[in-house]
Amino acid sequence: MAKRISIIGSGFAGLSASCFLASKGFEVHVFESLDQPGGRAGLWEANGFKFDMGPSWYWMPDIFERFFQQFHRKASDFYTLVRLNPSYRIFWADGFTDIPADNQALTTMFEQWEPGSSKALQRYLAEAARKYELGMKKFAFKPGLSWTEFVDRDVWRALGKMDLLQSIHRHIARHFHHPRIRQIMAFPVLFLGALPEHTPALYSLMNYADMALGTWYPMGGIYRVVEAMYILARELGVSFHFQCPVQQILVQGQKATGVLTAAGEYPADAVLATADYHHVEQELLPDKFRQYSETYWQRRQLSPSCLLYYIGLNRRLTGLQHHNLFFDTDFATHAHDIYTHPRWPEQPLFYLCAPSLTDPSVAPPGGENLFVLIPVAAGLEGDEAARRETYLQQVMHRISQRLGTDVFNAISYCKTFGPEDFVHRYHAYRGNAYGLANTLRQTAVLKPRMRSSRVENLFFAGQLTAPGPGMPPAIISGEIAAKLITKYLQELL
Ligand SMILES: Cc1cc2nc3c(=O)[nH]c(=O)nc-3n(C[C@H](O)[C@H](O)[C@H](O)COP(=O)(O)OP(=O)(O)OC[C@H]3O[C@@H](n4cnc5c(N)ncnc54)[C@H](O)[C@@H]3O)c2cc1C
Repeated sequence: MAKRISIIGSGFAGLSASCFLASKGFEVHVFESLDQPGGRAGLWEANGFKFDMGPSWYWMPDIFERFFQQFHRKASDFYTLVRLNPSYRIFWADGFTDIPADNQALTTMFEQWEPGSSKALQRYLAEAARKYELGMKKFAFKPGLSWTEFVDRDVWRALGKMDLLQSIHRHIARHFHHPRIRQIMAFPVLFLGALPEHTPALYSLMNYADMALGTWYPMGGIYRVVEAMYILARELGVSFHFQCPVQQILVQGQKATGVLTAAGEYPADAVLATADYHHVEQELLPDKFRQYSETYWQRRQLSPSCLLYYIGLNRRLTGLQHHNLFFDTDFATHAHDIYTHPRWPEQPLFYLCAPSLTDPSVAPPGGENLFVLIPVAAGLEGDEAARRETYLQQVMHRISQRLGTDVFNAISYCKTFGPEDFVHRYHAYRGNAYGLANTLRQTAVLKPRMRSSRVENLFFAGQLTAPGPGMPPAIISGEIAAKLITKYLQELL
């Protein structure tokens, strides 16, 4: 009889792992508390609008392609990708800049701002490309269970080139002087959940992902990727149980025997938890089987939380790109409010996505689909309706001023989502949006373990484990966990 695996959570990590495990012939059951797959990359449909609830930047297309290829499929079997050009627009206090997808145009733009910077950019990106390739070959697919995984001459040689000890802030400053160029180069680091001063220069590989590999969009929305992975999982024989939160991981001796839900007990030979790590250990496991204490979690540096607005307009807009970054207020002050002295920001920077500019199918005819993201510190008290409304008015005012038209009065639909919702919908520790910050102290072996040291057949995957936050890393994480489980179960035979 096939060995049975229970997976908790159907985000990118759970979906990815389920496909790999089912393709090995295991009986795979995915338990999901929500009524749809995708986790943080959920879909919200209202009044003819289709809102992607979380991710909107499709970076590292090679990782998605690599996933589908392992099942003899292509991303294009499921969705059509378009490369965005310009990749995004940045609004400054006194104008805006479009970041071209084309390398030649980008170089020319840099050179106009700072003579000599085009050569610096080529040097910077060539080095970032090496980090990306080495990172993918030597590090990204390691579970980080022990330092011995890294005891290999090639890995050590590669490690020396990964720029782990220098901050990306310093790395950028050594290449560029113009403040706008520095800000553009530091922007992708915002996805990593820590200040550029505290993020290793290794992550200049994100600049390579941004400027060389490009910003893509799956027509129909990011949710098409979730649907693709879900369809594939179903084809491979995975069983999904929606609206079926796991209440407890059942353990006997040192072994998980299954999971408990409101519908009853489901026995399993191995359990893979892809829901938020803190929730799984602290709420689904008895005390003696937890590896990490509350103090451990309090000492972790989390990525920020967010205030999100899913907005439907009753008319079209001009003056925006698909992705827009409002860097029109002081970056340092907002960063301080997130990272060093957590509090609600007064004049936040924000991100505005307008996918209906590329893809009319996500809004009703004549309407515009907007998604606004304001990063805020994780764990803030006071996520109240009045505060959310104040920010909405401020953001709409700033957009209206820039576009020279009243956007506020064109709102026909608006749903907000804040730190409290992250806690309630996803069981996110302190309302984090993208897991742990990517600092050196929370990298590789220093991340929460992918295999429990207390329950031999309990495994973990997802954005709080290796390799980290983001859709591509979550997909990789599912693959790593599936390999660990396959090895474990095959050794039992
Ligand atoms: C606002 C926002 C914007 C983002 N933007 C980008 C972007 O542009 N590009 C990018 O690449 N990444 C982005 N990310 C990050 C990316 O979305 C995540 O890293 C990734 O989706 C995480 O996948 P996961 O499977 O690890 O976790 P999740 O998606 O959180 O999945 C975990 C699942 O577990 C379920 N669950 C929780 N508890 C239980 C339980 N007890 N029983 C059963 N199920 C349970 C949850 O409902 C959820 O479905 C963004 C994230 C957010 C929040």
